[in-house]
Amino acid sequence: MIEDWQYGGPQEECGVFGIFAPGRDVARLTFFGLYALQHRGQESAGIATSDGNVTYLHKGMGLVSQVFNETNLKPLEGYLAIGHNRYSTTGASHLRNASPYLIETVHGPLGVAHNGNLTNALELRQELLERGVGLASTTDSEVITQMLASKADSWAEGHPAHLDNWERRLWSMMHVAEGAYSLIVLTRNAIYAMRDSLGLRPLCIGELNGGGYVVASESCALMTIGAEFVREVEPGEIVRINASGLRSTQAATANKRALCIFEYVYFARPDSMFEGQTIHDVRQRMGRQLGLEAPADADIVIPVPDSAFPAAIGYSDMTGIPFSEGLTKNRYIGRTFIQPDDELRRSSVRLKYNPLTANLEGKRVVLVDDSIVRGNTAGPIVQLLRDGGAAEVHVRVSSPPVRHPCFMGIDMATYSQLVAAKYDIEGIRSRIGADSLAYLSLPGMESAVRETLNGTRPHGHCTACFSGEYPLNVPNWLFEEDRARLFISVAQA
Ligand code: 5GP
Ligand code: MG
Repeated sequence: MIEDWQYGGPQEECGVFGIFAPGRDVARLTFFGLYALQHRGQESAGIATSDGNVTYLHKGMGLVSQVFNETNLKPLEGYLAIGHNRYSTTGASHLRNASPYLIETVHGPLGVAHNGNLTNALELRQELLERGVGLASTTDSEVITQMLASKADSWAEGHPAHLDNWERRLWSMMHVAEGAYSLIVLTRNAIYAMRDSLGLRPLCIGELNGGGYVVASESCALMTIGAEFVREVEPGEIVRINASGLRSTQAATANKRALCIFEYVYFARPDSMFEGQTIHDVRQRMGRQLGLEAPADADIVIPVPDSAFPAAIGYSDMTGIPFSEGLTKNRYIGRTFIQPDDELRRSSVRLKYNPLTANLEGKRVVLVDDSIVRGNTAGPIVQLLRDGGAAEVHVRVSSPPVRHPCFMGIDMATYSQLVAAKYDIEGIRSRIGADSLAYLSLPGMESAVRETLNGTRPHGHCTACFSGEYPLNVPNWLFEEDRARLFISVAQA
């Protein structure tokens, strides 16, 4: 049995934040930025700052509000900062895997906040170990940190001449690292933001009233601290923010874009914006499309709170079946995924929701959820609705069946975890005890996501978890169920 402390990665979906704002309390603003990005990771939180001379770091396990208080925020001085929320992977979690990483290098301090997952982490790890670099965790964020600490051109040569020392390192890393990475880097007097060439994970730029810039995984974090949305960091772009302002370098270009479509389906906050469209609107369109594709003979439409609200509204809109609420959610319980094993995940549904009996009694109910992944949530909820008096429960899912693992950052990394990889739709329906079950089609989902883009710029999304079409080369070892052991044997070699 591999102990979790040995195996922190690779799958990591996270929230990242960075700020350059002389004269402002950057640690406090980073705190509020991370607070807005809390949904992207509840396992650990951390902030690193620099005052141009000294760097400061505080990180810990738990929610942003549990990790930080007035006492530990105060010493985080400076005019630039980065922050990180780490997503729970299965099993226990450990401080050694918490971010940001902050180390000392020949070119001064280096802090790294990373969202994503490298698909060639194993080779890069091996290469670092062969170079004599010691690693303290199994996260690919540490691999990235150590790669950026290496001599500037030691990973790839041929960078444009105008790049500074850190841009050269980022450029060089970008030319060997494969997979998903939205990175925010802190140095003594600048922050850098970079996005992988496919744009798998989101990252955007904001401007502060009165001067200064912000970079964040999602635009909701900009709004929270009163920053104006400027634009997204482009796939393959390196952005430097320092005293002379913002400078952009297009370090790599891919022939396609592949923003994770699951960000639209579930992960991102509804008030955030990607590719010029609000997540809420996209989810509502998914619900409308679902209503078109899979109507039901029913009295009310209810969402699984909170993430399926927009889709249920769209479904109700399209079908004319009245929207209602049938479940009350305890807002003080984290996402069910943060529970360490399947057993706890199953019972936690009962901790999380109660049926609203008055609305359900004798009703034929359409229950809309945004996704079925492991299949642990839907069954107990259907049962809850029946216990609450529902006469029939028809489950409608506003995304297609998740049949393939994700190696680009979402926590669904093996076939064996995925209920739709093991059962067909009728099999899933009978397992969750629904009267009927239907999913949104893949083209239906894609049309909901793309509706407003009008083909004005190259676009495309990663749909691998639904379609099995990976936008990049996936090495065989990643498909192995017990691949964690590969990291251990490398670590012991
Ligand atoms: P499952 O089918 O895995 O038991 O749970 C699906 C439910 O979990 C859906 O209601 C969906 O909103 C939510 N969900 C889907 N993907 C994720 C994820 O990656 N993380 C978390 N925390 N919840 C998820
Ligand atoms: Mg949900």
